[in-house]
Amino acid sequence: MSEIRHNWTKEEIIKIYNKPLMELLYEAATVHRLHHDPNVVQVSTLLSIKTGGCSEDCGYCPQAARYHTNIEGNDLMSVQQVKAQALRAKATGSSRVCMGAAWRNVKDGEEFNEVLEMVRTINKLDMEVCCTLGMITENQAKRLAEAGLYAYNHNLDSSEEYYKEVISTRGYQDRLDTIDNVRKTNVTVCSGGIIGMGENLEDRAGMLVALSTLNPQPESTPINALVAVEGTPLEDEKPVEIWDMIRMVAATRIVMPETQVRLSAGRTQMSKEGQAMCFFAGANSIFAGDKLLTTPNPDVNEDMKMFELLGLNTQKPFTKKVQPQTVEANDSQLEPLGEKPKWTRPEHTIERNEAAKEKAKTLK
Ligand code: SF4
Repeated sequence: MSEIRHNWTKEEIIKIYNKPLMELLYEAATVHRLHHDPNVVQVSTLLSIKTGGCSEDCGYCPQAARYHTNIEGNDLMSVQQVKAQALRAKATGSSRVCMGAAWRNVKDGEEFNEVLEMVRTINKLDMEVCCTLGMITENQAKRLAEAGLYAYNHNLDSSEEYYKEVISTRGYQDRLDTIDNVRKTNVTVCSGGIIGMGENLEDRAGMLVALSTLNPQPESTPINALVAVEGTPLEDEKPVEIWDMIRMVAATRIVMPETQVRLSAGRTQMSKEGQAMCFFAGANSIFAGDKLLTTPNPDVNEDMKMFELLGLNTQKPFTKKVQPQTVEANDSQLEPLGEKPKWTRPEHTIERNEAAKEKAKTLK
């Protein structure tokens, strides 16, 4: 096993990222083999349980109500609908279901109770359950843990510096506080980010510093390539080059040896050869399903054909950590506290976000 370090610096990571490609691949693949079976890839299905109408201004996101995009919003799905989708995901090789809701933060009440019931239902299907619901308090994290949640996703998105160029309605520290609240439970942490938002290499390295210096490091890290959706402030960003994706995956693998590194948004723009190089560089997880929240994703049958071609096997659920116990709602020891935490709203001006908002007003 190679050492797990929590003191990586930006300079060190930039040096790794810029290594001659063959050396970088060799180093990343070596670390990967020391910590993981290189022929096993985890498959997760991302399910949007509540789509659109979000109050936040994340510049990459078509679900922000203030921009004009063509996504169809929907209210919270029912537990039965979620169960049906989870069963379908299980039948097509997924070991995990990640439920995403376009919320700024979780609010105690009926809808959160429904989500807790969804967590119980999926855990009882013997699948890993992940949620991405925005910012959460310690009590909410504990209630999710009690229901049987396996992982909570909350991405850092970018470096602290570049984050301010993308989002003005919540602060970076709020993100870290949410991760901290999850860490007070036995739920694992999933946190990563997006490349291709106009950030520079220092920002990419800065994001990896922020993630790798968390102690413990996140158990999984999605690396997304921006899908530039028309109507969002980032609609004109150029697609990420495959070489950038490979280098980013390799650098993530080297600085976070134990983490499951997930190829996430942007996979439709990648060839099978490109994805194979990412797997060689240390990616060992993918999001499956024809949609990633609202943006397109490769067909699951295509993914399975690719796995066969590359001799990859899918990871069984609970390979890395035992299945959590589900406590039924009636037996719960935890009360909703009805807290109203003061998550920050920096509300500084981001020119391109303002421009997209103004444009949307003329189109709505
Ligand atoms: S990324 Fe999440 S918080 Fe940001 S606008 Fe989209 S749904 Fe809302």
